[in-house]
Amino acid sequence: MGAESLTPAPNLYAHFPFCRRKCAYCALHSQPGAKQTERDAYAAALAETVEKLRIPQKSLSTIYFGGGSPALCDLRPMFKALAPFMSDNAEFTVELHPLDISGETMRILADGGVNRISMGVQSMDDTVLRSMGRGYTIDAAAVSFAKAKETIPNAGIDLIAGYPGDTQPSVPSGWGFVHCSVYSLILEEGTALAANAAAGKTRLPGDDDALDAVASMAESLESIGLARYEISNWAKPGFECRHNLAVWRGEDYIGIGEGARGRIGRLRTVNFGAPPSHGGKTAAREETERTGEKEDAIERRIFSLRTRDGLDAEGFPEWEKTLGKFAAEGLLERAGGKWRLTKRGAEVCDSILAELV
Ligand code: SF4
Repeated sequence: MGAESLTPAPNLYAHFPFCRRKCAYCALHSQPGAKQTERDAYAAALAETVEKLRIPQKSLSTIYFGGGSPALCDLRPMFKALAPFMSDNAEFTVELHPLDISGETMRILADGGVNRISMGVQSMDDTVLRSMGRGYTIDAAAVSFAKAKETIPNAGIDLIAGYPGDTQPSVPSGWGFVHCSVYSLILEEGTALAANAAAGKTRLPGDDDALDAVASMAESLESIGLARYEISNWAKPGFECRHNLAVWRGEDYIGIGEGARGRIGRLRTVNFGAPPSHGGKTAAREETERTGEKEDAIERRIFSLRTRDGLDAEGFPEWEKTLGKFAAEGLLERAGGKWRLTKRGAEVCDSILAELV
């Protein structure tokens, strides 16, 4: 499929699969140790893809650069290519690693139209950060975050709950972040963490410990004025991530780059617009699939259950019995004609979703 055949969508995600080194827990598509020239060539190739897209001028309302660590690439060609497509009040997010952040990087991002950043902190414990292989201390992360926020105040952080050894999970105080994502640790095959656990070198926390970690972090976040608006996300009022909300609410989004997924009408794309090879490696092949009408409708609707808005089950009579069963168990409640997760329901959201699809 050529870039020109994509119909317009209001949201765009671009993936940059480069990292300094592989974190112990991470199974995301990422390539540690690529050279600067390779990373820049990749970003330049993505910019060429953007230039070929038939996006109407000023029509993108959200853009999200994820990774990997996007800032390891020279992003300026992408900023130039995207500029004509950004609407006047577009939300433009870039994920950052604490070691990415310098005054110069922040200036380049701000000049390129970036107005929201999300920095991966992951833990508040230096020993845990070391075992994750993150490459910084918590004090260094605090300095990075303060510097980032000076230039782009709409700044948030990511944390992991339930990491081995993180016995007193906490959230930073006094950093002034407006958004926080808390992800429960998922043990992924093929990671260093999984190998250590299999070899008995690392003891994983039990399910209850992981849930307790999320609950205590949630309490801390709520005590400093952040409200939970999605299972894994908290924000100060008005600082919810518009890009992710658009995806959960079923809007179309263009996904470009290796490892990126896209949804445009009934088309689903994977690895769209990535250069065929980079850093001496052959990139994953671009794939496009046309999904069925019913599958498309389900996918667009179902993930709203993860959000504070809740799930509108209108048009899906087949869900009523299952939803009623979960409500009787105290996992769902009905509010304003929608189904919402209760606190206990939020702990088992994945199982509820699995029964619905
Ligand atoms: S967690 Fe982020 S920085 Fe670490 S390897 Fe995965 S993508 Fe790269």
